Amino acid sequence: MASSLRALRPALSTLSRASRTTALRQFSPAVTLNAGRQIRTFTDDVHNTPVFHLTEEENMLKEVVSKFSNDVILPKVRDMDEAETLDKSVLEGLFEQGLMGIEIEEEYGGSGMSFTAAIVAIEELARIDPSVSVLCDVHNTLVAQAFRKWGSKALKEKYLPRLATESCGSFCLSEPASGSDAFALQTKAVKKGDGYVLNGSKMWITNAMESEIFIIFANINPDAGYKGITAFVAEKNFPGFSIAKKEKKLGIRASSTCVLNFDDLYIPKENILGEEGQGYKYAIGILNEGRIGIGAQMTGLALGAWENAVKYCWNDRKQFGKLIGENQGLRFQIAQARLEIEAARALVYNAARTKAAGANFVMEAAMAKLYASQVAGKVSGQAVEWMGGMGFVREGLAEKFWRDSKIGAIYEGTSNIQLETISKILQKQYTN
Ligand SMILES: Cc1cc2nc3c(=O)[nH]c(=O)nc-3n(C[C@H](O)[C@H](O)[C@H](O)COP(=O)(O)OP(=O)(O)OC[C@H]3O[C@@H](n4cnc5c(N)ncnc54)[C@H](O)[C@@H]3O)c2cc1C
Repeated sequence: MASSLRALRPALSTLSRASRTTALRQFSPAVTLNAGRQIRTFTDDVHNTPVFHLTEEENMLKEVVSKFSNDVILPKVRDMDEAETLDKSVLEGLFEQGLMGIEIEEEYGGSGMSFTAAIVAIEELARIDPSVSVLCDVHNTLVAQAFRKWGSKALKEKYLPRLATESCGSFCLSEPASGSDAFALQTKAVKKGDGYVLNGSKMWITNAMESEIFIIFANINPDAGYKGITAFVAEKNFPGFSIAKKEKKLGIRASSTCVLNFDDLYIPKENILGEEGQGYKYAIGILNEGRIGIGAQMTGLALGAWENAVKYCWNDRKQFGKLIGENQGLRFQIAQARLEIEAARALVYNAARTKAAGANFVMEAAMAKLYASQVAGKVSGQAVEWMGGMGFVREGLAEKFWRDSKIGAIYEGTSNIQLETISKILQKQYTN
């Protein structure tokens, strides 16, 4: 089936161009910074739109993802959670819809859209199932992105078309002894012939059960410390690669999380991603971007939990002769929760647009991820209470959203690590 996104793309770009022109015309000739001498117009670099205003292309994408989430994912959410397995048809659907190659260039079979478009998709998927959302997030914002940024021409030609159309990817950094202190990793790569032999293990690897392509960080020169860390590309069928264990988790249970073992895993030289010894820089860079994705996942989760509960409170459940959502005690909590979700969304889209503008976005990304995960935990917990006993049982989605929310404070840098990043940047700014 042709991708809906791909089918829509030509029309979308025409519309976007047209609407951009109209918008610009509306505001031109623009206010000048200096009335006497026209230095430059505000419209040169300021968009007169709310930070999470979506372009027509992004709006269309949102509709496509929303339809796919409701039609294909929603009927399977509960069963996938109980079975702790992703339904194969969901993964196939993500590929068919063009959602596994959102930023991958069209020449490689991707949808050729923007980073913000990926954020829109991740958020929208999480509104229905945060497990599917993280699969899409890791694949797009970490794996495909790493190939796009640092892959040689040969690696791009070999792997990007597969990532866009048929093969899921994993990003393998964490190990049993190195979590927050990621660069203390122990997996070693020793030169052999025309390649490297890897020995060690990775822990907590998202998508491992579904993936065929793995970016693995290993140290080629432990004496150089983190400066020996190098990124390698392995495939599931490479001899020496194995999945040792699939974790049983509190939340996002349909998302696979595994321990990987490398036992003399041979990787040919051409499968080094980027330059030797630069892996630590790549990991830092890509995780900074990835955090915006987790912020989007948590914002979508919070909105999904909120919507699920308010529909019940304002339509279904009556006590003392009126809908429970008519009580001021509940109404005010509902309004406050929505306010916090909108604030989280603003941080997430601000971080995404800051990145798109080419500006430094490290603090913005950390703030977005931290705050969105806090809001997701708070709102999904409240939503369980708003629904009373019905929020607590494993029939609806309320309790699942709450369980799923907890991971937001852990992966791609714990909440403490985000606070550390934010405070370091601020301290630098405010130190004489
Ligand atoms: C479901 C799931 C999926 C994951 N997916 C992936 C994946 O695909 N790829 C991958 O590479 N990794 C993945 N991870 C790993 C994840 O990124 C780590 O779990 C995370 O970085 C935290 O590491 P840790 O679990 O070892 O906790 P630890 O580092 O042991 O931290 C434990 C506690 O100590 C605190 N702490 C640690 N150091 C400091 C400090 N300096 N200051 C203040 N507090 C500190 C932390 O904030 C935390 O509260 C995943 C993890 C999970 C649970």
